[in-house]
Amino acid sequence: MQAKKIEPERLERQQGIAQAVFEQIQDKNKTYYIETYGCQMNVRDSETIAGLLQGMGYSPSATKEKADVILFNTCCVRDHAEKRLLANIGALKERKEEDPELIIGICGCMMQQADVSRKVMRRFPFVNFVFGTNVLWRLPELMLGALDGERLILTEEEGFAVCEGLPAHRSNPFSAFVNITFGCDNFCSYCIVPYVRGRERSRELSEVVAEVSSLADRGITEITLLGQNVNSYGKGMGVDFADLLHDVNAVDGIRRIRYMSSHPKDLSPRLMAAIAQNDKVCHHMHLPVQSGSTAILERMNRRYTREGYLQLVEDLRRTVPDIELTTDVIVGFPGETDRDFEDTLSLMDEVGYAAAFTFKYSPRKGTRAAEMEDQIPEAIKKERLKALNELQAKKTAENNQKYLGHRGEVLVEGFDRRQETILFGKLDTFKMVYFPGDEGLLGTYQTVQVTECARNSLLGRME
Ligand code: SF4
Repeated sequence: MQAKKIEPERLERQQGIAQAVFEQIQDKNKTYYIETYGCQMNVRDSETIAGLLQGMGYSPSATKEKADVILFNTCCVRDHAEKRLLANIGALKERKEEDPELIIGICGCMMQQADVSRKVMRRFPFVNFVFGTNVLWRLPELMLGALDGERLILTEEEGFAVCEGLPAHRSNPFSAFVNITFGCDNFCSYCIVPYVRGRERSRELSEVVAEVSSLADRGITEITLLGQNVNSYGKGMGVDFADLLHDVNAVDGIRRIRYMSSHPKDLSPRLMAAIAQNDKVCHHMHLPVQSGSTAILERMNRRYTREGYLQLVEDLRRTVPDIELTTDVIVGFPGETDRDFEDTLSLMDEVGYAAAFTFKYSPRKGTRAAEMEDQIPEAIKKERLKALNELQAKKTAENNQKYLGHRGEVLVEGFDRRQETILFGKLDTFKMVYFPGDEGLLGTYQTVQVTECARNSLLGRME
């Protein structure tokens, strides 16, 4: 759907407010700290929040303890997220008593739910403001209000719109996330995202390409195109994700294009061909299957069958032979029988994913699945998750074996946390390789040869 945009006058007004904040705090060396929960969308949102705060004169703080502004960017997709968040906010009570000027704000998907945001404000009178995902661009207004001693909840905005041109403080100097769609139209029966992030909107192709070009000008060589379902990019706009890949592939300076996530129902032959034809598009696809049982997929409202999914995998591997697949799986969805679960195991065995993110189903208030009868007892979910993880560990190990002796290019991303002389980087297929090297290699592309397989990664040496 062609996205409605936030009008430039409204953005200009916020810039004026940001300037007013800047004038109030200048010369005070104020800092901020953002705690981010959840997916890449939230990571990307936090970069925008950081960019906005820096525009108001705040600089990043390495620790929460020293920061003058603390923001929690929340997620409501995963289990126990709410409890964990509430505990983390509660822990700031004493700190706020000692330092009443401390500004505490909560944002993200969880705050888009009106009952939760009201609860947070009621339970924690020391929180300055909460705001939802759709009003990120109004942060200057919230900050000015907080400096003036106001307490605000901001989650309503007529419709969900796209906001172009906001600043961002990118944390990674070599690789960047680029939003291409926001929200989701799919209403999988277990998922809260369409309710908290709104209906799907795509950014204009020219805006995406312009952002990628400006990132390339700043030395970024790898980009990850982000959307809840990138495969449906451009719906109703006369362009599609394949067009976008072609155009982004043509941007000078970019060497790698990644993307996530892909909904199987929108994976077209045209898109498979675009992945094969465009040399910068990486040969890795995160293709969530969620279940291997057609009956459960139907209850999940996923709009593909087991057979349809397997056919897609076959077609994809025929078109892009070395493509690696990763996936998400939910076990213990309401009504899942032993037979359904066996179907999931057999599908996982047949596809042979490089890695899988596996979850026990947990109900989300407001979704259809939460109201379904025949919820599965926790003990059975646990057992199934264990069996699934054991199978996937075996498949990952088998898959890793095929890389022994393999030579490939990695983008050097950082140091192993436990060993200072060991670097890591990812192959085009998203496989992580660890190898000896030094700091001067960070951000460069190096050819490595795989010499050993660890449980989830590969070990190698540079050529
Ligand atoms: S595709 Fe389904 S699971 Fe993914 S965000 Fe949309 S509704 Fe949620």
